[in-house]
Amino acid sequence: MRKKLFLALSLAIVSSSTTFAQTAPAKDDPIKTMVGRLELAKYKATLKGLTQFGDRRQGTDRNRAAVDWIEAQLKSYGCTNTERIKYNFEQPARNYRTPTPLPPVIASGEIRKNVGDSRMRGNVGPVSVNEDAEKQTDAALRKLNSQPATNGPREEVYCTKIGSTHPEEMYIVGAHMDGHGWGEAADDDGSGTALVMELARVFSSPDVVTDRSIRFALWNNEETGLNGAKAYVEQRYALQGKESPAGSGKYPEPKWLGMIQHDMLLWDHGMPRPDGTVNPEQRPEADVNIEFRYDTKFGEQAAKLAYHFRDANEKYATDYPAAVGHHMTNTDSDPFKDLVPAISLRENERGMQIGAGWNPHYHQATDLFSSYSDKDFTLGLNAAQTTLGAVAELVGAKLKK
Ligand SMILES: [Zn+2]
Repeated sequence: MRKKLFLALSLAIVSSSTTFAQTAPAKDDPIKTMVGRLELAKYKATLKGLTQFGDRRQGTDRNRAAVDWIEAQLKSYGCTNTERIKYNFEQPARNYRTPTPLPPVIASGEIRKNVGDSRMRGNVGPVSVNEDAEKQTDAALRKLNSQPATNGPREEVYCTKIGSTHPEEMYIVGAHMDGHGWGEAADDDGSGTALVMELARVFSSPDVVTDRSIRFALWNNEETGLNGAKAYVEQRYALQGKESPAGSGKYPEPKWLGMIQHDMLLWDHGMPRPDGTVNPEQRPEADVNIEFRYDTKFGEQAAKLAYHFRDANEKYATDYPAAVGHHMTNTDSDPFKDLVPAISLRENERGMQIGAGWNPHYHQATDLFSSYSDKDFTLGLNAAQTTLGAVAELVGAKLKK
């Protein structure tokens, strides 16, 4: 009788479980060991390293120096097969100096539409790109950021963990390394760039084996209109899954299984207050926002991918939870969204929250490493834990005994 009851209960548990209702990782889960190799100090050190190049504006010497530095770091982590995408960028004529009137803080209950079919509610703060050098009060940083962008050739770097049994298929893990605003582009997007670099470090460890491949891509020219990611799609889309040279077992462009973008991962302090001020502390209910777009060719698969990430967050992230939304927009996953399941990870939803002025450092001279606390950096670390766990499961990552 007892046995029968036990069997019935087990069956009930099995039948009620879904793909995403999973339990905590097993005690000897190798992915948990890999996630444990991410550390707050290392994440911060990588992010700090990026800030030595100021705001890393595209088309400048400081941007090119940052690409060189990122490539050297990737190689030093063991991700030695670095390659570059080369493209040309011409800035469309545009008057940066035209002052845009800032929307006032509102708390009227009015709902305003924003990018990605999102809706802004409650208190809405101003959003703009700082183009005023004088807003940077640190003279050394102002000087570092003073060279303007010039039109011409551009480069961006990636490296690849090659799959042991399916080298011909890969997930793309990306972030944009360029920024603007006369600060250090620490959150936007040093936080995502450091995350991708840290994942390249962990996956490139000689004792980590994956069935499928992972590409770590640091896009350039995101801030000018996703131009680096678009160049990648234009140049590489048709090369997918082709063995070259024939019979070599080498796949210069493995088939894309998914694209995961990381853009702004530190600051989740909540809505601006009615007087326009913001909470100086990370809110205790901060979370990682995983977004996809339902109204795309791969919308349903992207939704599934997003919930896989939420589940990985529950298994592997140490401090902050994750939430899923369907208004992904305005980042490098956009050019991929009708070609492959694509998601983005952020500190807040792009349209409803970031776009409503929740982050006062967004594109400002104050986007500095020193503007963030360990509670903020820990949100970025938790996003890294989420992606590392989720991708490790997807590519069948194991540790060599
Ligand atoms: Zn960004």
